[in-house]
Amino acid sequence: MKIKTIQSQSRRDFYAIYECEHCGHTERGTGYDDDNFHRNVIPKMKCTKCGKIAGSDYRPLTTKYRADEVV
Ligand SMILES: [Zn+2]
Repeated sequence: MKIKTIQSQSRRDFYAIYECEHCGHTERGTGYDDDNFHRNVIPKMKCTKCGKIAGSDYRPLTTKYRADEVV
């Protein structure tokens, strides 16, 4: 999956619409805005419709806040 839109964010917690690269299925979910989440967690999320994870062309988003920033 990848993030299509971030709907709202409070500190590093956010709600986003995730979109499947393979079948286009979208679903709303929560997330945590740090590098690990963008790089490792999101691309391994399985689409609930087709069951696939992100392909090798997945590009993580950058975080809203830096890792050392206190929010
Ligand atoms: Zn899918």
